[in-house]
Amino acid sequence: MADVVVLGAGAAGLAVAAQLKARGVEAVVLERGPGVATSWRGRYDRLKLHTVRQLSGLPGFAIPRGYGRWVRRDDLVRYLEAYAQRFKLDVRTGTTVERIKPGAAGWSLRLADGSEESARTVIVATGYLHTPQVPPWPGLETWPGELIHSAAYRNAEPFRGKDVLVVGPGNSGAEIATDLAEGGATTVRLAIRTPPHIVRRTTAGWPAQLNGVLLGWLPERIFNAVAAATARMELPDLRKYGIGRPAVGLKTRLRTGRYVPLQDVGIVRDVVAGRVLPVAAVQGFDTISVLLADGTSVQPDVVVAATGYGTGLRELFEDPSLVDETGVPLVHGGAPARPGLFFIGYDVTLGGMLRQAAIESRRVARTVSRLEK
Ligand SMILES: Cc1cc2nc3c(=O)[nH]c(=O)nc-3n(C[C@H](O)[C@H](O)[C@H](O)COP(=O)(O)OP(=O)(O)OC[C@H]3O[C@@H](n4cnc5c(N)ncnc54)[C@H](O)[C@@H]3O)c2cc1C
Repeated sequence: MADVVVLGAGAAGLAVAAQLKARGVEAVVLERGPGVATSWRGRYDRLKLHTVRQLSGLPGFAIPRGYGRWVRRDDLVRYLEAYAQRFKLDVRTGTTVERIKPGAAGWSLRLADGSEESARTVIVATGYLHTPQVPPWPGLETWPGELIHSAAYRNAEPFRGKDVLVVGPGNSGAEIATDLAEGGATTVRLAIRTPPHIVRRTTAGWPAQLNGVLLGWLPERIFNAVAAATARMELPDLRKYGIGRPAVGLKTRLRTGRYVPLQDVGIVRDVVAGRVLPVAAVQGFDTISVLLADGTSVQPDVVVAATGYGTGLRELFEDPSLVDETGVPLVHGGAPARPGLFFIGYDVTLGGMLRQAAIESRRVARTVSRLEK
């Protein structure tokens, strides 16, 4: 097929292919979806980047100014399409790679149509947020309500007049709760296991993402203290509404759990106004109710599980020693995980994953181009 194959035509895959091309290395990009940016096409309608345009673009071609400070989902898709065209990237859509293993010529790739391809170098950019995950809640199979993962949520229309429980106060869960409250759901609850770190998206025009970039070097203890003090200053005390203060500092959670803070795009206002009701974590289901960790229960029509994603890499590789217990590659972002095998897009930082993908694409392209020449 090609000496260098990139898996996934998302931001990370496109960026690394473009960076390779700039260094004289042609790569083939294999994409399972019908076009580039498949993940972004499927995300909810109201989504705008929570990272600023200037810090979210890929190397060699910035996101157009006209897309505004907070880039809309559809504009990001347009940008990624334009990016692939601009650098004339060889993207083969509708091509799912099912399995990768060492082969005679480096790596052997089994495609969904049953064919086998080989490549000397494989760069995996299939997305940190790859496979929607729902916890194995007891009783779920007999509960009669409707359950969807946040990845399948588009807008509030199908939930008008319904009682909805959103599970998980991450960025998706909180924004979906706001969307449902604005879009006519009768009751919107937000189930919270661990109190989130909430940050204002901007303070006096200054984006939270920039704090992450500029202050990220601070020692953990100091960063944690600054983040906690900022939250106290900027946000109302939400404890009386059912959202506690985080027990573990922000940078500690980032390090130990790859956690990014919740950027407030309406959830604080909605909680204070009683339009979104925080409740305890979900423990399980019975034949009519969702059972919560504080011993209470609720009877929603619909549960939206904003409960995260797995990387899907365990299924892609037969070698389990490539990934840690959470499915994240042990070596990623620059150095080869094995000779001729790279992973990009698996580092969660306060500067944003798009910015990080741009940084890593340069590093990986530099290393691969040296090896290929
Ligand atoms: C709701 C939401 C909002 C976000 N907002 C931001 C934000 O504001 N700023 C930010 O920096 N980050 C944001 N992110 C994180 C975001 O996921 C990344 O920034 C970005 O999409 C990561 O790009 P990627 O190329 O690594 O992965 P993806 O965009 O997921 O691309 C992976 C590609 O690989 C393809 N693929 C997967 N498996 C295979 C296979 N087996 N064979 C072939 N192709 C395959 C997929 O179809 C996809 O096109 C957000 C994420 C979510 C879920």
